Amino acid sequence: MREVLLHDTRSGGLLALSPRDAWRVGIYACGPTVYSRIHIGNARPFVVFSLLKRFLEHEGYGVNLVINITDVNDKIYDAARAQGRASAELAAEMSDLYRADTDLLGLGRPDHEPLASETMTPIVDYIQTLVDGGHAYEAGGDVYFRVRSDPAYGSLSHRQLENMDQGEDELDPHPTAQRKEDPLDFALWKAHKPGEDTLWQSPWGPGRPGWHIECSAMAECLLGVGFDIHGGGSDLVFPHHENEAAQTRAARGAELAKVWMHNGMIQLTGEKMAKSQGNIAPLHEVLAEYGPHAVVMYLISGHYRQPLAFSQSELEDAARRVHRIRDALRRLEQERPSPPDMAHHTVAFFDALANDFNTPAALAELFEWVREANRRGAGVGDSDLREMLGVLGLGELSPLQADGDVTSIDPEAISLLQRREQARSERDFEAADRIREDLRGRGWEIRDGPNGPELVPATGH
Ligand SMILES: [Zn+2]
Repeated sequence: MREVLLHDTRSGGLLALSPRDAWRVGIYACGPTVYSRIHIGNARPFVVFSLLKRFLEHEGYGVNLVINITDVNDKIYDAARAQGRASAELAAEMSDLYRADTDLLGLGRPDHEPLASETMTPIVDYIQTLVDGGHAYEAGGDVYFRVRSDPAYGSLSHRQLENMDQGEDELDPHPTAQRKEDPLDFALWKAHKPGEDTLWQSPWGPGRPGWHIECSAMAECLLGVGFDIHGGGSDLVFPHHENEAAQTRAARGAELAKVWMHNGMIQLTGEKMAKSQGNIAPLHEVLAEYGPHAVVMYLISGHYRQPLAFSQSELEDAARRVHRIRDALRRLEQERPSPPDMAHHTVAFFDALANDFNTPAALAELFEWVREANRRGAGVGDSDLREMLGVLGLGELSPLQADGDVTSIDPEAISLLQRREQARSERDFEAADRIREDLRGRGWEIRDGPNGPELVPATGH
């Protein structure tokens, strides 16, 4: 088993992975706030941590991957209000679409996808523990965390106190400044305000939790305190992760996670996606245009810690690399062992992943292998290439497929399928049949499989 090194934001260096529970690595990555469909930037942590799980499993570890869904948040109230909709309905719809959009990446689901709205009792208990310990106080129905009660505050983000604006009043029409003991403090519980259409009961009156405590509670419910890896985008280091870490130290007297891994941001270059309004790139549109293999290839083309430029030419490059692999697969002997004297590339591929999950270095080895196989011509077995592709989530690449990814199912079809399931659960069979016809018109047949209904290309298409 290789030693796996990961960059840890708190210590600023590489740490060797040594699982708390032998052979079972616990990973919590912060997932999306579901107020709109997710964009390509939200897909990066999903892909990085899903593939890290695959790599660790390849190395012989068991992995418990948790990626949460934040479905109670100011942004959701604001978006719902602007659309004249109920916030819970918007969050439920966007959660379904998030799952449908990320399903199309072909990487499977995380082991757990907790919802903040379904974790309310542990969240309220957590806040009560902080209040009881003197780390939090109630003010006007809100509850705030007393930042100066945690001597290690700042140890994750390494910020100076004067650069620690919690940013809470930017979105809040009822500024918290007068209620806080100290501007550094942040909200654990927010009293219900007029215009908010959901609320939960608490010892401090009706309201809803702050964002940071939601994640501390969801992570702890599923992984306990002191789990192995906490991940998320680098934009979450402060205040979100700093605050999660502080809450756990204050309530439990321990660190929440051993390693804090942060992925760089996707940088939009100002180019528009063909069908998009404005300078955003919704994941489902990028997938519809380039297919899942090219999108995954693009997302692993840079080191996860570095920013990654988003542009048409980057995606086209990724599509060309997928094409090169598919082309090589056509010439290889299917399901045959690869030549032992090419195995050093495969070893170097996995060594690169063990060294802070260096996917670009690993890909360079994979393409060296492909070049060598092409040079040798007939008779090279595909097993090593298949092993590498499997860990990158590209194991489904088939030499028989046409270029341009026939595996991509259009997102409209997915949402029609969901509406049919909804109709069936409401026993509206007429509507369900209508949607089935609609799908057939789009070239999809519904097949009821062991894991629920699936879409398969309609015969005659
Ligand atoms: Zn979080």
